[in-house]
Amino acid sequence: MLRGSPERELAAWWEAEAVAATKAQAAKEQVRVDPGAAGEPERKAGEEQPKEPAPAPPCAAEEGDARIPPRPPPTLPVSLAKPEPVSGLCPHGKSRIKGRSCKRSSGQPDEYCSLRPVTVDSSKARTSLDALKISIRQLKWKEFPFGRRLPCDIYWHGVSFHDNDIFSGQVNKFPGMTEMVRKITLSRAVRIMQNLFPEEYNFYPRSWILPDEFQLFVAQVRMVKDGDPSWKPTFIVKPDSGCQGDGIYLIKDPSDIRLSGTLQSRPAVVQEYICKPLLIDKLKFDIRLYVLLKSLEPLEIYIAKDGLSRFCTEPYQEPSPKNLHHIFMHLTNYSLNIHSGNFIHSDSTSTGSKRTFSSILYRLSSKGVDIKKVWSDIISLVIKTVIALTPELKVFYQSDIPAGRPGPTCFQILGFDILLMKNLKPILLEVNANPSMRIEHEQELSPGVFENVPSLVDEEVKVAVIRDTLRLMDPLKKKRESHFPDIYMDRKHRFPPVSERMSSLKLQLSKLSIVRSQLLGKSLASKENPPHSDLAGASQGNANPDAHLPSICLKQVFPKYAKQFNYLRLVDRMANLFIRFLGIKGTMKLGPTGFRTFIRNCKLSSSSLSMAAADILYIDITRRWNSMTVDQRDSGMCLQAFVEAFFYLAQRKFKMLPLHEQVASLIDLCEYHLSLLDEKRLVCGRSGTSSASRLQPSGTPQEAAPPAPPAEGRPQPCTDGAHKVSHSRHTVS
Ligand code: ADP
Repeated sequence: MLRGSPERELAAWWEAEAVAATKAQAAKEQVRVDPGAAGEPERKAGEEQPKEPAPAPPCAAEEGDARIPPRPPPTLPVSLAKPEPVSGLCPHGKSRIKGRSCKRSSGQPDEYCSLRPVTVDSSKARTSLDALKISIRQLKWKEFPFGRRLPCDIYWHGVSFHDNDIFSGQVNKFPGMTEMVRKITLSRAVRIMQNLFPEEYNFYPRSWILPDEFQLFVAQVRMVKDGDPSWKPTFIVKPDSGCQGDGIYLIKDPSDIRLSGTLQSRPAVVQEYICKPLLIDKLKFDIRLYVLLKSLEPLEIYIAKDGLSRFCTEPYQEPSPKNLHHIFMHLTNYSLNIHSGNFIHSDSTSTGSKRTFSSILYRLSSKGVDIKKVWSDIISLVIKTVIALTPELKVFYQSDIPAGRPGPTCFQILGFDILLMKNLKPILLEVNANPSMRIEHEQELSPGVFENVPSLVDEEVKVAVIRDTLRLMDPLKKKRESHFPDIYMDRKHRFPPVSERMSSLKLQLSKLSIVRSQLLGKSLASKENPPHSDLAGASQGNANPDAHLPSICLKQVFPKYAKQFNYLRLVDRMANLFIRFLGIKGTMKLGPTGFRTFIRNCKLSSSSLSMAAADILYIDITRRWNSMTVDQRDSGMCLQAFVEAFFYLAQRKFKMLPLHEQVASLIDLCEYHLSLLDEKRLVCGRSGTSSASRLQPSGTPQEAAPPAPPAEGRPQPCTDGAHKVSHSRHTVS
């Protein structure tokens, strides 16, 4: 339960959305709407851009890639194949108009910048390319399908942050996200939260990490069975690096785990199997929801109002030794079920083996289910999961984009896979860093002959998610808003009385014509400036590119509900401490000196915890974590090891309290001492390491290498805390 029972508040807010979605679904039940009529331009075969020759990606890289063979590159219309006329662009990415340079600092309003369409580099978009293209067209933005020598506003990467080296703009991936949502890392991150807040994080099935926790798994299962012989559990084993159901199997007993030599090379998660899922048409299904992580610092989360429901293709029965191997009964993966003879492709969003989530809600609400409650539980699950992921993401972020160096800002669409239990409680199955954005599916035309055909259900949901993500990230929105404040007003003021609208329209037109004549002069009409030039969006009389678009399908849930969830962000605050003491830019692990500086600056050593004991704590925990993690790039203490050490210190210092209160108290104490220290440093004029310089524009705390320990025995003026005497003899190397 959420603190202060905010579920009601959440539910009230979502009510309007859920009801609207189900109403829309109801309308669709009666009339199937032509997507073209909803403002979506029809796709022309000839407009397809060549896809990057996709090297077979690792399975976890891009969902949906593994089984569908890449299409042969379509032929390219000559006009689109032409490389961008780079020479015609000035350094701000604007067309250079003869005899006129781009004067940003002239003091004149930079009309051109405020009106040009947003530029998107789609050269690395891979399987999301089709949906991205449609989105860009709907927004009247400018696509660069082959990349661009000059910077683009937005880079759309198909797989990871590292798909391309970029130093500015925005990119649709966070560094480290792929690693963070792997089954083992996600399980570890959620487990830390389960230790702190067991009730709040009971939406994730109990999991054990193999091979490390195999003995623990065996022992815990035996213990519960001994206490309750009627307990007949089922477990699901999932390879860490697997996706699309690859390598997954069900077991009834720990001894059934296939340990045969492969576990070491293929670590896995074994998890309690949810035996009583909600069924529709007697079939198990799961929900794919799209979540936009708009920003890490400050945390901003959006959830798409609609998602997809993927159905099994064999009627469900509770697991028994007889049916454990029936993958079409137990696994909802589209990539598996598509190969079942029972898979139903449908052009309707409410029938077939893949449907919209809103169609499911509509069906449930017609049976009297409280869908507001379902939605609010799902929102809670999403926010809590993101809160579990953000601490380590921040560590990755500062390592890849060190503060003070040029780099892009990041956002990312995540795919949340959620199972509804029979009692309607949502369960998190997994998070996908690269949810499939394909809008086509494979169809068997005749035995053995397959063709990719458009999938209306996918297109309806995914194009809206990509388009509206772009709208939310629009880097030029503010400029356009300030240029045309009257057409960017609040939705509720969008349709003022006719008289007002007429005068507003006249104003816009006159502004447009002034801008046009100022900037383009004769050259606008010249043949060198094609209609899709940088001003196309504005000059086509549609200065507000949102005017023809439906309302944004992504709803903000954080910081909107920050008050209800902020108390959960303890590990996030620990990560801020960790990052502060990391020292060298680019590293992800805390060295022994950093750990000692943390202990000293936060005044954690005392008669009961000597610096020597702190050193031993560091060595013990670091060694154990390093033996468990595959990543041996850096030596030192990873964030999870730091969290474990922090828990240990909190438990020692604040006995008798529940763990989360112990940890919160220790964090408060550390933050208090560090703020005193920062003030002291400011007073002493150590501006190089002052708190002001520590907080970077992104808000990510960053500190230069911790100051070297003072020379042994020598008193230091304005040192880093109580320990004015060096302990360098205990330094662990
Ligand atoms: P993958 O990345 O390979 O798709 P998932 O974790 O999504 O792995 O699991 C695949 C499928 O197995 C899910 O779509 C779901 O149908 C089923 N599944 C996974 N975990 C559980 C669970 N704990 N209980 C019940 N079903 C599960």
